[in-house]
Amino acid sequence: MNDELLIGVLGLQGDIEENIKATNNAFKEMNLKGKIISVRYPEELLKLDGLIIPGGESTVMGLLIALKNGLLDSIRKILQEGIPVMGTCAGMIVLAKKSYDKVVGNKNQLLLGALDIEVERNSFGRQHDSFESNLNISGIGSDFRGIFIRAPSVISAGPGVQILSKFDEKIVAVKQENIIGTSFHPELSGDSRMHRLFIELVSKRKANR
Ligand code: GLN
Repeated sequence: MNDELLIGVLGLQGDIEENIKATNNAFKEMNLKGKIISVRYPEELLKLDGLIIPGGESTVMGLLIALKNGLLDSIRKILQEGIPVMGTCAGMIVLAKKSYDKVVGNKNQLLLGALDIEVERNSFGRQHDSFESNLNISGIGSDFRGIFIRAPSVISAGPGVQILSKFDEKIVAVKQENIIGTSFHPELSGDSRMHRLFIELVSKRKANR
C-alpha cells in the first residue's frame, strides 16, 4: 500500500499556493511522506486523503464549484466519507450550514452544509479592518499568529462542534469530527501548526481505512 499522504487544495480561487507551502512545511516538520497538489477536477478529488478549501472569496468559490461538472458531487462525496477537510476563512464559510453577511445582509451563496455552524461574514468589518492577533488555540497553544482578512466568525455551533479558539468573544476556529474551520488564515502566518493538526487527522483517517 502507498503510505504517502495525498492532500489537495481546491484550486479554483484564493490562496492556493500559500496553503501548498504551509502543508509542505508541515510535512517536513512532521517528518512525514506527503504530497500536496492543487485540485479542480472530480477525478483528482476522489483520490485524496485530505482536502483544503482555501481563503479567498466564498461567493466566487461557490459559483466556480457549481460551474464545474461533477465537482460539487465529488466534494460532497469526500465529506460524506469522512475524509478530512480544512476550510480557512472563505473555505470555512463554504463548508458551513448557514451564513449571512454583516455588511450587506443575507446573500444567496452555495454552502456545502457540512459544518454545523452559522457564520457571520465580514464579522470584523471590511478589508481595511483586517488585523492580526495572537490566538489561544486548543491543541496548539496560546501564541498562534491569527491573520484576519475580511474574516467571518462563527455565531452559533451545533452540539457536535468543538470550539478550538475564540477572539474577542467570537468563535474563530472549530472542529467537527474530521472537519476543521478557521476564520483566520493559518497559511499566511508562516506557522504550520494548524496544517500539522490537519495532517494528523489525515494520517489517522488513512491508517484506519
Ligand atoms: N469575506 C470573505 C468571504 O466572505 C472571506 C475573506 C477571506 O477568505 N479572507 O468569502
